[in-house]
Amino acid sequence: MGLKKIVIVRCPWLFRKSVKRGDKRSKTLYLTFDDGPTPSITENVLEILRKYNAKASFFCLGKNAEKYPDILDSIINDGHTIGNHGYSHLNAFKVSGKEWIDDIFRYSPVSENKYFRPPYGNILPWEFNKISKKYKVVFWDVMTYDFRQDFNVDIIKNILKNKIRNGSVIVFHDSVKASKNMLPALEFTLEYFTARGYEFHNLDQ
Ligand SMILES: [Zn+2]
Repeated sequence: MGLKKIVIVRCPWLFRKSVKRGDKRSKTLYLTFDDGPTPSITENVLEILRKYNAKASFFCLGKNAEKYPDILDSIINDGHTIGNHGYSHLNAFKVSGKEWIDDIFRYSPVSENKYFRPPYGNILPWEFNKISKKYKVVFWDVMTYDFRQDFNVDIIKNILKNKIRNGSVIVFHDSVKASKNMLPALEFTLEYFTARGYEFHNLDQ
């Protein structure tokens, strides 16, 4: 990442129309799952969410949703929100703007939704302005780092306990790589914060 890009990403006013966190006065949390749908992993997530009567949002990859349309349907049938995370998870800092934008609109069951999250959280200001005409761009205030192979569940539980606050938008990944950390960390989040009076909503609620 060049210096120019670092400067752009660190200027929050450029992306002021985006979402990072919900209402600070409300004990509502927004679970989000990136990079799926993934066979068995996403279904496990759905089962856990059902157990706690929790709603969430899934930022799906077009290429995965195209391969597993039944899982996409299950997410929708359970009352969760679908968001677009691009077709093939391209990094906006590494490919041309045209290639990046085309990739986002490649698979309509995913792209024809209200919310978009850029892969790696990377997006250039002109891309943001273009994308914002169609989507609400959703970043986050709590990254769980569930994909980090050098992190165990205890490290992630500490992140969750320390960082989650009213209105937090929390990033998990329903991917094979993250699942070892993600599934127990998700159970923990639901149990710990439900016991403390929090509710879990999707982005449409
Ligand atoms: Zn991603």
